[in-house]
Amino acid sequence: MELRLDVHDRVDHLPGQHYVVRLTAEDGYTAQRSYSVASAPGDPLVELFVERLDDGEVSPYLTDVVEPGDELEVRGPIGGWFVWDGTTPALLVGGGTGVVPLVAMVRHARDLGRLDLLRVAVSARTLAELPYADELAEAGALVVTTREAHGIRPAARLTAMDLLPLWEEGQTAFVCGSAGFAEAASQLLVGLGIPAAAVRVERFGPSALELPKR
Ligand SMILES: Cc1cc2nc3c(=O)[nH]c(=O)nc-3n(C[C@H](O)[C@H](O)[C@H](O)COP(=O)(O)OP(=O)(O)OC[C@H]3O[C@@H](n4cnc5c(N)ncnc54)[C@H](O)[C@@H]3O)c2cc1C
Repeated sequence: MELRLDVHDRVDHLPGQHYVVRLTAEDGYTAQRSYSVASAPGDPLVELFVERLDDGEVSPYLTDVVEPGDELEVRGPIGGWFVWDGTTPALLVGGGTGVVPLVAMVRHARDLGRLDLLRVAVSARTLAELPYADELAEAGALVVTTREAHGIRPAARLTAMDLLPLWEEGQTAFVCGSAGFAEAASQLLVGLGIPAAAVRVERFGPSALELPKR
């Protein structure tokens, strides 16, 4: 679900950056989560896309409870590595909600009239579960679905052969998705001979994950 926020004293973001949304309960308990910006820098509002996780602490609140006119505590934009400045060629590879920061890049490119700089491949279980599916397809994205056929393509994961025709010398690759997707996609790219230094990765892992104590 999309949330469009009117952020006071906003600092313009670069496509790829995220915001942190913080919820505070009446007893003072707080929980915060990161959400990538889907909107282009030129959009007067900041658009986030939140996937509802049934057993989640924050996402069900943002998708079910928040209403137009409500105020949210947000911090951002955050991130200095996973960003595209709109001037250099890039290969965007996203899985599931991992497409959100890539959508900001596509929208920015469109605003600049530079969609030619981007090659895009996205993957989701089904088309219905792919955020911004129509917009991505219109921008020429290769759409892969792993649990249903898509067009003439049977249900299958993204392969190196899918990515090979999209790769061009001089591109930076931006890979975003779950930890598993990000790992698999970056391995495909590096396996094609793309320098690891040209591959930037953003993982949407559970942000509440705690590392085991030693
Ligand atoms: C930089 C960054 C950008 C992000 N951008 C987005 C975005 O644009 N849209 C978006 O929907 N989410 C995004 N996320 C994920 C988001 O921050 C939360 O982790 C997610 O909304 C779950 O929070 P929750 O409180 O609902 O679930 P939690 O209470 O944290 O977790 C509930 C259950 O879901 C599992 N879980 C947690 N996170 C995920 C996940 N991402 N995928 C699958 N299972 C998970 C947990 O292991 C647990 O079992 C981003 C994360 C990062 C680090």
